[in-house]
Amino acid sequence: MAIQWFPGHMTKARRQIEDKLKLIDVCIELLDSRLPLSSRNPMIDDILRDKPRLIILNKADLADPEATRKWLAYFRAEGHVAHPVDAATGTGIKEIPEQVKLLLKEKIDRQIAKGMNPRPSRALIVGIPNVGKSTLINRMAGKNIAATGDRPGVTKGQQWIKTGGNLELLDTPGILWPKFEDQDVGYRLAVTGAIKEEILNIEDIAFFAVKYLVKDYGASFQERFGIEKLPEDLENPDEIVAVMEAVGRKRGCLISGGRVDLEKASRLLLHDLRAGKLGRFTLETP
Ligand code: GDP
Repeated sequence: MAIQWFPGHMTKARRQIEDKLKLIDVCIELLDSRLPLSSRNPMIDDILRDKPRLIILNKADLADPEATRKWLAYFRAEGHVAHPVDAATGTGIKEIPEQVKLLLKEKIDRQIAKGMNPRPSRALIVGIPNVGKSTLINRMAGKNIAATGDRPGVTKGQQWIKTGGNLELLDTPGILWPKFEDQDVGYRLAVTGAIKEEILNIEDIAFFAVKYLVKDYGASFQERFGIEKLPEDLENPDEIVAVMEAVGRKRGCLISGGRVDLEKASRLLLHDLRAGKLGRFTLETP
């Protein structure tokens, strides 16, 4: 479920996170591996300032592994600690406390030098809707804590969730708004289901997806939908629509006169894409 953001919502979301920053040692910024920049909040550096930050590329299971390697290198070159995770199955989760320790090493070493037993490090997970915050919290807690899905405006008492490795998490994640400045960013978010389909036209979203994916991942399309010939000219809209029609025919989206119901075909295509049935893909490169 996506949230409709207005300037007032954004200010409130920002304040809520800024309040929580006082309580934590480290922030875990969750991004979608398939679109790490488009799923990044545009004001994140400004909001988190000098708070130590671990960048997690979530849904790595759905992304192109080669592209994920490039993105990790990109964020590391920016001076961040970055780590790939699949919160749905738990791959990469057990390394998170170690990564946090690495980030907070100086602070922890100081405590040890003073003869103190290092207290548990405390973390807040932040990210845009649907990026997997609740799934990650539940996974790290080892049980169902955070309600999946977003319920803006619902506040409850905050609790610290114990995870392994001397790390505690705030049970309520920080919900951030995605970028809106660029139309392609909007389409990328819509392809992955991060923003509501009502905001953009479903056929336009599918058109965008096909145009991008046929170029880099054409073989998956051909195989799944039995497409004889992939478009040669991606700038020719007719060739893209022909692919969408082929998808529709294969998936039985026919209406009277043997024509293809493009809206239905678009829906099924996006469903398959999001479920990973067309293979792993990444929608932007560093
Ligand atoms: P939130 O809005 O950020 O709390 O996101 P949720 O935790 O509710 O997750 C949104 C959707 O993404 C759910 O359907 C999850 O099952 C799915 N999801 C979360 N993490 C992963 C992941 O690593 N891989 C895959 N394939 N799906 C994920």
